[in-house]
Amino acid sequence: MTDSAAVIARLKELERASRPLNPGTGRRRAARAAVAAAGDRYLRQIEHLPAFDHHRGEGLLDAPIGEHGVGLGELIPLIEQDVLRSGATTAAPGYLGYIPGGGIYYSALGDYLAAVSNKFSGVFFGGPGAVRTENMVLRWVADELGLPAGTVGNLTSGGSIANLIAVVSAREAHGIGAASVPSRVVYLTSQVHHSLDKALRIAGLSEAVVRQIPIDAAFRMRADLLAEQIVADRAAGLSPWLILGAAGTTDTGAVDPLDQLADIAERERCWFHVDGAYGGFFALTEAGKRTLRGIERADSVVLDPHKSLFLPYGSGMVLVRDPEPLRQAHRGGGAYLQDIPDDPTQVSPADVSPELSRPFRGMRIWLPLKLLGAKPFRAALDEKLLLAQYFYARVAELGFEVGPPPDLSLVTFRWAPAGTTLDEANAMNRRIIEWLRDDGRIFLSSTMIDGRYTLRMVILSFRTHRRTVDVALRALGEAVNALQRG
Ligand SMILES: *Cc1c(COP(=O)(O)O)cnc(C)c1O
Repeated sequence: MTDSAAVIARLKELERASRPLNPGTGRRRAARAAVAAAGDRYLRQIEHLPAFDHHRGEGLLDAPIGEHGVGLGELIPLIEQDVLRSGATTAAPGYLGYIPGGGIYYSALGDYLAAVSNKFSGVFFGGPGAVRTENMVLRWVADELGLPAGTVGNLTSGGSIANLIAVVSAREAHGIGAASVPSRVVYLTSQVHHSLDKALRIAGLSEAVVRQIPIDAAFRMRADLLAEQIVADRAAGLSPWLILGAAGTTDTGAVDPLDQLADIAERERCWFHVDGAYGGFFALTEAGKRTLRGIERADSVVLDPHKSLFLPYGSGMVLVRDPEPLRQAHRGGGAYLQDIPDDPTQVSPADVSPELSRPFRGMRIWLPLKLLGAKPFRAALDEKLLLAQYFYARVAELGFEVGPPPDLSLVTFRWAPAGTTLDEANAMNRRIIEWLRDDGRIFLSSTMIDGRYTLRMVILSFRTHRRTVDVALRALGEAVNALQRG
């Protein structure tokens, strides 16, 4: 195509054909209204949707992506039916399984502005305002936890990546190269989240020695046994390196004795990491702060705003006390970045994470915090702590065997009437879970604790209030009655 007139004609044609990618005001308004209406319809129903919907989204399979577009009038019903109403209703008040979050509305609006502007938030130079919102959120959380002024962090996609960033920072801080991995020791409990196992493997540390420290009756790490193990490991010529504490384990919600672990880490010059992906934000409350005492002494902390700050999925966070190993682990550069001035006074997300281009994650968290202030978040978290105690007392009255009193907002319990064997009790609890899933008022998940099939009630959504917990208690009572009728 050397004839310039032909080139120009072809370009015109291509421009016209690609025009739908850039809708004008009228089309934007219509599309936005249709989407916003679907969002409103969903939220109006949220209290009444089944907490788990057995639809598996098969309708999507009959609607493959084709050459020609399909109007929103046709797509929105498809999305409502086969996407939004398929599987767990994680935004519903009755979603009490795994670790709920909720997804506050103003975050979605923040995401809208972030995506419409498509601000680049990888490097301060490219989006100073965007990066500032992120760094101010991180600063605010570090202050709330009581971490020192030099603390640096990153907004990640979730707790798993945040844990990975913490682990590689700990590796750099101790100068661990391939040859020394087999003599390095990691201390954790059986309750550690599997994302930390993954992180160690991804970071090339799977040959490190891993010591599973026994837990007490409330599933917390035994600090005395940790101290003994470290002494024994040193005597055996090994190098104690990393202590993994939990600010709320996923299985049982247990908070390790963080202050005692911090003492040991300090004395033994180990890196102290606290995984607070579930429970970290309870530090925004007075009661939570007491439970989490010692978190402020961690070398690194992970929190999940999409759990205990109620944001939509896609928001994790890592805070690291000493920025040097964090930067060292993630350093990089290329000729194509030569125009970017180096501004040592500003932390760029790309310098402290594996990512370069990334979603502008600050707006979805900065906007609701600015708009509402911290107060309603603190109130909701206090409410969850109290609701967990309320549930704990009442589920025991229903005749369930309960686990330890909740450290945070997670209660473990099981149906185990006198005279049943372990296998019988396990089968009954499995049937309770299935009964609840079919019933649909609430969604619970379970775990195995020392071979016992155990139910978990996790109260963490900002939409879950006392009436939902009462519904849960009623549903559990009915599930047990159904079980007894056979
Ligand atoms: C959820 C969770 C993680 C993993 O976080 P994601 O955001 O799901 O990647 C890590 N640790 C704990 C304690 C968790 O509860």
